[in-house]
Amino acid sequence: MTQHLPPPAPIDFSGDALFLDFDGTLVELADRPDGVIVGERLIATLHALSDRLNGRLALVSGRDIATLDGFGMAGLAIAGSHGAEWRLADGTVSETARPPGMDDARGRFEQFADTHGGVLFEDKPLGAALHYRMSPEWGQECRALAENLAQAHGFHVQHGHEMVELRRAGVDKGVAIADILKRAPFAGHRPVFLGDDVTDEAGFEQVARSGGHGVLIGTMRATAATFRLPDVSSVNEWLHHSLKGGPED
Ligand SMILES: [Mg+2]
Repeated sequence: MTQHLPPPAPIDFSGDALFLDFDGTLVELADRPDGVIVGERLIATLHALSDRLNGRLALVSGRDIATLDGFGMAGLAIAGSHGAEWRLADGTVSETARPPGMDDARGRFEQFADTHGGVLFEDKPLGAALHYRMSPEWGQECRALAENLAQAHGFHVQHGHEMVELRRAGVDKGVAIADILKRAPFAGHRPVFLGDDVTDEAGFEQVARSGGHGVLIGTMRATAATFRLPDVSSVNEWLHHSLKGGPED
């Protein structure tokens, strides 16, 4: 991949609506989903940015909203579970019931994790995931099991960083961003979305359609993003620099 993408300009506090992936974008990936470290400075920065943007900041994550709230994100707008649920800063909520068949899939995933060392099962309110970062030799079998269950129940299979997840078909981060962009205080503003994973491409495509731009986090690859930052620490610096250096409004 030879294409070069420049770093984004600082946040425009009067015009931008900021959408932020969480894992691998704001915090470093961890071997276990509950192993991420969420620093006090990041929490304070996100809340300050949301205030400066008059509420036009939303986390857009594969994690569920309750988990992110537990990381100090309560009070922020959040699209959780890959877009299957969202909540705005004023408390407005859109939630979807757990899809039928998910209990069966959860049981099969849990059984697989119990019998394959190093594979972790993650139960989610609206989905289920297997993590094989600690035992990549089981990755192919994890993916095959997910594909079988998806076919049986009509789920969407989401492949991530050494993990595979089942969730309801028809929702993704792009759909969630589009839905949030229709509502106050986001409507009429330019969406900027930062993300690292293949699951974030739907978000990059959506913000481009809505007149905004995507920012790829990490090494260069084929992407719908038009800007790039190399890693989590550069994202944190960009957020912090925007907050300190942005024009007064
Ligand atoms: Mg991510």
